[in-house]
Amino acid sequence: MRAAILHEVGKPLAVEAVALEPPRAREVAVRITATGVCHSDLHYIKGDLAFPLPVVLGHEAAGVVAEVGSGVDSVRAGDHVILLFAPSCGRCRYCDAGRPHLCEMRSRVRGKMPDGTTRLSWQGQPLHHFTCVSSWAEMAVVPESGVLRISEEVPLTVAALLGCAVTTGVGAVVNTARVQPGSSVAVFGTGGVGINVVQGARVAGAATIIAVDLLEHRLEAARRFGATHTINAKEEDPVRAIQSLTRGGADYAFEVIGRATVVRQAVECLARGGVAVAVGLPPTREEYAVAGPAFVLNERTLRGCFYGSATLRADIPRLIELYQGKRLLLDELVTATYPLDRVNEAVAALDRGDGLRGLLVMG
Ligand SMILES: [Zn+2]
Ligand SMILES: [Zn+2]
Repeated sequence: MRAAILHEVGKPLAVEAVALEPPRAREVAVRITATGVCHSDLHYIKGDLAFPLPVVLGHEAAGVVAEVGSGVDSVRAGDHVILLFAPSCGRCRYCDAGRPHLCEMRSRVRGKMPDGTTRLSWQGQPLHHFTCVSSWAEMAVVPESGVLRISEEVPLTVAALLGCAVTTGVGAVVNTARVQPGSSVAVFGTGGVGINVVQGARVAGAATIIAVDLLEHRLEAARRFGATHTINAKEEDPVRAIQSLTRGGADYAFEVIGRATVVRQAVECLARGGVAVAVGLPPTREEYAVAGPAFVLNERTLRGCFYGSATLRADIPRLIELYQGKRLLLDELVTATYPLDRVNEAVAALDRGDGLRGLLVMG
């Protein structure tokens, strides 16, 4: 099979023939149908975050089960599945507490499968797996806990987006922040994940939804997805503009870029008692700073958000129902598709901020 390999930071990916071993016990081989190109992948390509190389990136995907290893009982060959980039063990302190997206397994599987080995190799050398997904490839072998079976009625292109962007964005609103009906929400950064924060806020019943971005086409899209107001941060100071639109500050603010200066703005635009959520993954050395007295005196909160704080197996089927009821716009998120051979074009488009979500669609 073929896969896009990152051999060296800052260099184009190489689409090459790769060997993939069959699934072992409790593993599943999936023929990838569609896979998203996300800012988290871009961080590793650019070297903003470090990862063992060479690696096959890609963490947002859907496809069809090709083969299952021994002991797999939740899916079988032919099933349509979404890949989950947070596999879970089912028996650690986080899994026991009903928060499997925080499973301890995450720190053990960096570049590897849960048993500490790899299924991918190139010219006889092992290749690293990425988040136990590695979906920028025609096939992937993943842990059983990293697949979720879905109805064949859901297009696999749309399903791929539920693997990261939609679940993270909507989850940040409903799970991490628990946005209340009638409240005011500011969203900094309206790319693939941020646009889902906007529509999550609409679904949660926020009365005021303010989208902040530097790109006019994204602000226009944000209006279609539910923003009631838009601010181009190139033209005006977003903190002051948000404070004036919300009569003193937003109840919730979401930073969906991964920049410390913007996290600070998200905290500063809050009303008293407000909650800011850091959703965007920042580069390695980024540190957040906020003004101390205002943080304390105004009882503000800053929370991190991983994978939409989602209980994935319960939440993703709900998101699918919202999509089927036309409450969540998912088809409209896909603004470009590319074959695997053009992965570098898809990455360049993401880096420029073109469109909302680009998908690699396998032939
Ligand atoms: Zn992602
Ligand atoms: Zn666990």
